[in-house]
Amino acid sequence: MGKSDPIIYTLEQALDKGKCPVCCCLATATTRSLANLLYEFVNDPTTRDHLRASGGFCREHSWALQQMGDPLAHSIIYADLIDGFCVKLQENMKESRSGPAFLAEKEEPCPVCLDEAETEKRYLDGLLKAIHTSAFQEKYRKLGFLCRPHFQAVYSQTRDGKVRSFLTEVQLEELSRLSAELKEFIRKSDYRYAGELPGTERDAWIRAVRSWVGPNDLKTN
Ligand SMILES: [Zn+2]
Ligand SMILES: [Zn+2]
Repeated sequence: MGKSDPIIYTLEQALDKGKCPVCCCLATATTRSLANLLYEFVNDPTTRDHLRASGGFCREHSWALQQMGDPLAHSIIYADLIDGFCVKLQENMKESRSGPAFLAEKEEPCPVCLDEAETEKRYLDGLLKAIHTSAFQEKYRKLGFLCRPHFQAVYSQTRDGKVRSFLTEVQLEELSRLSAELKEFIRKSDYRYAGELPGTERDAWIRAVRSWVGPNDLKTN
């Protein structure tokens, strides 16, 4: 199924994980690009120049990178960023400018965010392409479900009425199931039913957050 197109193949594989396939593929791609970046930052001074221009990574990706370990790479990256910032602070002490350089300077966007946006677009396009194949569509009907941001993104990216209703049907089915589980959790929280054993609804609240905003880290695999 879709083996000729690696994007479609990866999406198809991700359906088995029971989570938003776009989020899953994105997490794998971002983890890979973070690992590559760590390697490049240590070995390539031009990459470090780019990083200085962006003022490092955004908060989310700074911590994702930190979680990957590599104290030496981090020491090199942050010594560089901190020294660059110190130079600007010292310049500011010497010259009495109207506005300090370290505040006024417009920073480039986080390089991982830029990378991620491109990858996300590739997977959203891939998903729309894949849905046109009957094998993928069949599997998606059984296992597919997108987080709300990716559902909105995919939906607005197509004008095809059939694709839109197919996506909506699958989404509605899953969301209704999730909502029922949340209500079951609420019901069992009542002291009158406290004796009943917990079922699949016990972690529905976590799945609800994930389905609403997407995952909070790269451990989506
Ligand atoms: Zn998603
Ligand atoms: Zn970022």
